[in-house]
Amino acid sequence: PPGALDLGVAWRDGFAGLGPSFYTELPPAPLPAPYLVGLNRPLARTLGLPEELLAGHEGVRALAASLPVTGTRPLASVYSGHQFGVWAGQLGDGRALLLGELETPSGPMELQYKGSGRTPYSRMGDGRAVLRSSIREFLGSEAMHGLRVPTTRALSVAGSDAPVRREEMETAAVVIRVAPSFIRFGHFEHFASREQDAELRQLADYVIDRFYPHCRASEKFAGNPYANLLEQVCERTAAMVAQWQAAGFCHGVMNTDNMSILGLTIDYGPFQFLDAFDPNHICNHSDETGRYAYNRQPNVAYWNLFCLGQALYPLIGSEELTLAALEPYKTVFPRELQKRMSAKLGLGDVQDADRDLIERALKLLAQDKVDWTIFWRRLSHAVAGGSNDAVRDLFLDRTAFDAWWLDYAARLPADRAAAGLEMLGTNPKFVLRNHLAELAIRRAKEKDFGPVANLLKVLHAPFDEHPEHEDMAGFPPDWASNIEISCSS
Ligand code: AMP
Ligand code: MG
Ligand code: MG
Repeated sequence: PPGALDLGVAWRDGFAGLGPSFYTELPPAPLPAPYLVGLNRPLARTLGLPEELLAGHEGVRALAASLPVTGTRPLASVYSGHQFGVWAGQLGDGRALLLGELETPSGPMELQYKGSGRTPYSRMGDGRAVLRSSIREFLGSEAMHGLRVPTTRALSVAGSDAPVRREEMETAAVVIRVAPSFIRFGHFEHFASREQDAELRQLADYVIDRFYPHCRASEKFAGNPYANLLEQVCERTAAMVAQWQAAGFCHGVMNTDNMSILGLTIDYGPFQFLDAFDPNHICNHSDETGRYAYNRQPNVAYWNLFCLGQALYPLIGSEELTLAALEPYKTVFPRELQKRMSAKLGLGDVQDADRDLIERALKLLAQDKVDWTIFWRRLSHAVAGGSNDAVRDLFLDRTAFDAWWLDYAARLPADRAAAGLEMLGTNPKFVLRNHLAELAIRRAKEKDFGPVANLLKVLHAPFDEHPEHEDMAGFPPDWASNIEISCSS
């Protein structure tokens, strides 16, 4: 269209090739006078996008969905899902639009606006996203990427002074998210619930052909490709949630429409990285029963996979095979978790007896409400360098800590310095704590975007020391526990 911005890249159809049963094409609603809040330059380079053009006046308008991008045909996809354990019926991209797909060195990547206006799936919503939640999504997804946790990525945040009503008046922003695919469990539930078997099969075949091609050749599950797909999604989801638990990450809204078919962390809303360790921690202020509390995430993931299994059942065609394909979650999750926890402890080889060491550590951390990230980082330094004073100081019950340390030290590999170095590359110094995001958001509201850029830089390399950013590695201030993050975004 005239006035469109050509980014000089070749857009491909990808998801759009599935056809109109899967989406509605529509243009975004432009935001007035957009400005750049954050640009993920390393990701732009990976995608082969022109950084300088994007950072310029026209580029920012494109990032804000205020200027069309040549070669793209934006669309909103339809999905359904279970929210808080209850079937919610049709949902869909209520404020997101898929731009299209790019071929990149790491395979196909889709770009999606979030906050670009109403769609046929907006229901009562305004189709917008506020600056606050957009900065949280931008930094949250990049923090997870920095931690090597599978996740959707974020390319940019563009803001505007256009008002958006939430609990109070805020301003609008658009995030551009990036992932090989944004297909969720809910996409499958949608067509299964409507008994649209042809579309269900088309969707599953698309996902298999593009992302799980070995499911066709596999002889497991009587050579049933859909049972193989279910098993693969179970394995990826188990591995992802094990990484969440190890990182102290609470998702906050693990509804089935927020579960990626690729096992990526998706939909950064009221998420939180734990400060003090509390296994029952609930990060979402709207989650009254604690359905999505930190220690419930592994079971909820299985519950969600079961919903996916029910949706795939018409394709699998056998209850026995469906259940068999779900079964691996129960062994893969504990195995992956133990692997991650052993790595956090610097124990290279995973031994069964280590489970006791891990459980005792978690119990002590919970009992004394010890800061999750600081504990693991100080433990790493203790193993790498010698004295355990700094980690011991974190506990009130020093006698119990000393008893644990004695057994732990006995189990450590002979080359402790090497183990300590491994630990420093496993236990991050920096995570996106709520108060760090909050401070950057406050400054961004005053149009100072420096803190967002600083956080992005540090979170992209969270295992490095960054001595100039020591303030981002400390304990949370007292006010941090009063931050209330709800579904409102
Ligand atoms: P979430 O709780 O973020 O997973 O969103 C659940 C559903 O509500 C999805 O279909 C979203 O697209 C939709 N939604 C959330 N916020 C808005 C909004 N402000 N406008 C339109 N739709 C929204
Ligand atoms: Mg969602
Ligand atoms: Mg959301």
